[in-house]
Amino acid sequence: MKAKKSLGQNFLVDQNIVARIVNSVSAKQDEFVLEIGPGHGAITKNLMEKAGWVIAVEIDESLVAELESNFPNSNLSIISSDILDLNIIQLVNEQSKLHPQLKNKIRVVANLPYYISTAILSRLIQARSVIKDMTLMLQKEVAERIASPAGNKDYGVLSVIAQTYCQTKILFDVKAGCFRPIPKVESSILRLEVYEEPVIKIVDDNLLVKIVNGAFSQRRKTILNSLKASCNTIDPKLFPQDIIAILDLANIAPERRAETLSCQEFAKLTEVFFQKLTQAL
Ligand code: SAM
Repeated sequence: MKAKKSLGQNFLVDQNIVARIVNSVSAKQDEFVLEIGPGHGAITKNLMEKAGWVIAVEIDESLVAELESNFPNSNLSIISSDILDLNIIQLVNEQSKLHPQLKNKIRVVANLPYYISTAILSRLIQARSVIKDMTLMLQKEVAERIASPAGNKDYGVLSVIAQTYCQTKILFDVKAGCFRPIPKVESSILRLEVYEEPVIKIVDDNLLVKIVNGAFSQRRKTILNSLKASCNTIDPKLFPQDIIAILDLANIAPERRAETLSCQEFAKLTEVFFQKLTQAL
C-alpha cells in the first residue's frame, strides 16, 4: 500500500526505536493507552502486550480495515475517525465505563502526523483532565520549541501553553532513516507529564491562549507594543492605553520582550487581564 503524504504517513520501521518508545511509556496492565495514528500497527502491537487496553484512532479507512483483520478479538478498540473530530474526554469516559477495572487517566502515545501535530497537541492539552502523560514523536524543531525554557530563542506560544500544564522533556532523537518513506526532517520523542495539581493557576485558559498569541505576535517588539497591537484580538473591550496599567499591575516591565516572560508571569498577566475584563479594576 502506498503511503499517503497528505496524511503525514511516515511509518516507523526501526524496531529498536519502537521498543525504546514502548519501554519509555512502560504502560501497566491496569492502564489505558490512546494511540493517535496507529498506521500499520508498528507501535500498537507492542503497546497491546503491555497495557490493559489500547484505543487507536486512525483516519485512513484502509489502515483501519488492515488493523481490524490483523488484531481481531484483542485488547484494542480501533476508532475510524479524524482525531480532531473527536471529543477526547467523552471517548475516554465511554471507554472507562466499558472497562471499569482500568485507571481512568490514559497514557497517550503517538508518532504524530506532522501536518497537524500542533493542532493535536492543543486538543490533548485541552483534554488534560483525563490524561496522565503523552509520549509524542514530533518534528525535532517542534519538540525543541515545546520544551524550550524562557529566554531561549525557541521559546514561544507552544512552550508557554505546554509548560503551564505539563512537565516537558525530550527523551531522544530519531533519525529520518528510521521511517518509510524517509521524511525530510529529523524527529524527537517528547514526553509531556500532565501536572496532577496545577503548578501554575490559570484563571481563564482561553484568555491565556489569546494573551500568549498576542504577546508573541511580534517577537521583535516590546511586550507593551505587541500587546497594544493585539489588544483588540485579546478582547474587543480593551484599549491600547489599558496595557501599560495591566503590565504595571502584573509587575512586568513594559520594555521586556515576550520570550523573557516565564509561564508564571503569563499566568499573572492573565489574572490581571481577567480582573480588568470583569471590571474588578
Ligand atoms: N504509528 C504509525 C507508525 O509509527 O508507523 C504511523 C505513524 S504516521 C507518522 C501517522 C499516522 O496518523 C498515519 O497512520 C495516518 O494515517 C494517521 N493520521 C493522519 N492524520 C490523522 C488524523 N487527523 N486523525 C487520526 N489519524 C491520522
